Amino acid sequence: MSESGKTILEGVHLSKHFTGRGGWRGPRSVVRAVDEVSIAVRRGETLALVGESGSGKSTLGRVLLNLIPPTAGDVLYEGRNIGGLPARELRALRRELQIIFQDPFSSLNPRMTVEKIVGEPVWLHEAASAAERRDKVASLLRTVGLRPEQAHRYPHEFSGGQRQRIGIARALASSPKLLLADEPVSALDVSVQAQIVNLLEELKTRFALTLVIVAHGLAVIRHMSDRVAVMYLGQIVELAPVDALFEAPLHPYTQALLASVPTPSPRARRSRALIQGDVPSASAPPPGCRFHTRCPHAREICRETRPPLETTSEGRCVACHFWREIAASGAGSIVAPPPAPALTRRLALFEARTRSETAHSQDSA
Ligand code: SF4
Repeated sequence: MSESGKTILEGVHLSKHFTGRGGWRGPRSVVRAVDEVSIAVRRGETLALVGESGSGKSTLGRVLLNLIPPTAGDVLYEGRNIGGLPARELRALRRELQIIFQDPFSSLNPRMTVEKIVGEPVWLHEAASAAERRDKVASLLRTVGLRPEQAHRYPHEFSGGQRQRIGIARALASSPKLLLADEPVSALDVSVQAQIVNLLEELKTRFALTLVIVAHGLAVIRHMSDRVAVMYLGQIVELAPVDALFEAPLHPYTQALLASVPTPSPRARRSRALIQGDVPSASAPPPGCRFHTRCPHAREICRETRPPLETTSEGRCVACHFWREIAASGAGSIVAPPPAPALTRRLALFEARTRSETAHSQDSA
């Protein structure tokens, strides 16, 4: 039976809190970056974690990869709890779970050649000779679209897109099963973003990888992912297959996020207003539904009771007391209003002028 679609990585009631001070001599505060989140990543899928800055998506990704320990909850990899594993087993685990960092400028050691950067995981995880390591590095560079002879250069000699390719080669060097891509293209020039996105998709198919993408660029997410988990103030508010989420978002926050994306038609508009206000502080999240301070549908119960993450009949998950009512009202859909009268007049004038010019040119021919 195919393993594809089974759970490979799972977070169970995960929380990650950071303790800090609000200023030099300010009082101590606890930032609830991730709060009671349960999520399963299926083998072979691309799962996107999205949300505004401060939503906890990057922290959740790092906790899932065991790069930082959770404050509470468990992470299961292939059904095994990976919390508190002995160092030897943890090293073997690192080989299978790799990360691509957001910033290709700071994530590569400027004093190391590309050969050393990409070859380090090979050296750590495989008993390979120097010649075998060199061959593997050359092959990895070719895989990510670089030339083997570039292995002796230093990171500063490459462009942003090329550096991200080096980061990807390094992540692939230990033959991982799952890759976490933390904002993989947001630090790159728009012209090279598509190349990196295409490369990741190609590598995912070629090496049968599972991808977890942390991103706030909705176009990238729509293009790459199979399922999307939307986070707000450390909690998942909606989880759905990508098409269902983009076509009919159920949670008011998801609707607001999508409403902020420019639509291809200048005449199309969404049936609801853009979200107002800032994200509240994660050190003092609002009680009840955390979105109630910004939600246009908020009522009394929202201020007091946290809505559970409910599974719908279509297998989607949403955390909102009133998602059925909101969906029935058509909020979040895209509507194309009739053109404004001034625009109608201009279009009519343009058409009349085009008709008269065509007739004139046919007469004179
Ligand atoms: Fe808005 Fe209430 Fe739903 Fe929260 S539970 S998203 S405040 S309607």
